[in-house]
Amino acid sequence: MRKIIDITTEYYRIPLTEKLGDAKHGIHTHFELPIVKLTLEDGSEGIGYTYTGGTGGRSICAMIEYDLKPFLLGKDASCVEKLWEEMNWKIHYVGRGGIASFAVSAIDIALWDLRAKKAGEPLWKLAGGAQNSTKCYAGAIDLNFPLEKLLCNVQGYLDKGFNAVKIKLGQETLQEDLTRVAAVRELIGPDITFMVDANMKWSIETAIKAAKLLREYNILWLEEPTIPDDYAGYKRISTEGGMAIAAGENLHTIYEFQNMMARGNIDFPQPDASNIGGITGWLKVAHLAFAHNLPVCTHGMQELHVSLMSAMPHASYMEVHSFPIDQYTTRPLVMENGRAIAPDKPGTGVEFNWELLKNYKKAF
Ligand SMILES: [Mg+2]
Repeated sequence: MRKIIDITTEYYRIPLTEKLGDAKHGIHTHFELPIVKLTLEDGSEGIGYTYTGGTGGRSICAMIEYDLKPFLLGKDASCVEKLWEEMNWKIHYVGRGGIASFAVSAIDIALWDLRAKKAGEPLWKLAGGAQNSTKCYAGAIDLNFPLEKLLCNVQGYLDKGFNAVKIKLGQETLQEDLTRVAAVRELIGPDITFMVDANMKWSIETAIKAAKLLREYNILWLEEPTIPDDYAGYKRISTEGGMAIAAGENLHTIYEFQNMMARGNIDFPQPDASNIGGITGWLKVAHLAFAHNLPVCTHGMQELHVSLMSAMPHASYMEVHSFPIDQYTTRPLVMENGRAIAPDKPGTGVEFNWELLKNYKKAF
């Protein structure tokens, strides 16, 4: 038995180098990083984490510390899926799909880190082993960037070797959005893959109108055109707007993905291991997507998702997000020929650079 004898929760609040804005969350100035260190009887340690756009991090840490830690101490860390199920029920009544999904994610990632270290395998092999690299795209929270800055930023992606890019939509008028889309398409040329993200801004009617107008720019997907709860609305936008739809960062239970796939419409599911219940939750959604004959994508935390996406035979594009968590690890994103390369070390391959993080540690 791999008995859990200690769990330490740490809270980091890290400033962004510039203000980043999107359609519904407003301006971001920081991201939060709750980190969990899980220690076993034999002294081995697993590291897990989640992140937020600046709000809720302390509540996540409190739930781990006060509600999950007492439950987990003394349990067998080998039984990852059993613990995932039990953790979810432990906090289901008060936190289903909310803070609970983030708290369970952080612990689950630490459990997988231990599982992979004990197996002596890198995560990309343990999770499926399809290959050791994945397609990826760059996207910033750039709704607040003036057009010139937006273009400069997109040029920066191309200079770094990305062959797929995404921008935010949801300006005051649809015309402003279209001007930006036309300018970016002009800049990147016909061969670069291009996605757009409305961050839930629109009504169904506006989204359908936008989708029709966007079609001439050869957009791979329209992301989160409206609120995540309106399954029928997603179906209408896709059918009447004639555009592929991506969503997932605001679907925080497996059942929400199932409902969106079965009753709504989603062409590119984007589970995020930081809020769908960690690696266990992410894999459940990835397999659900497989059964629905859909690819799997991601949102955020590229330093971890690079291994999960590489592992999957049906992976589409991994998001390289503008919360630079990877810059605070010992292995910031590695790219070759436009693809992101998974780490080959046993474990999740996400090792934090504590020296870089130490100034941002706060009480919770
Ligand atoms: Mg998004």
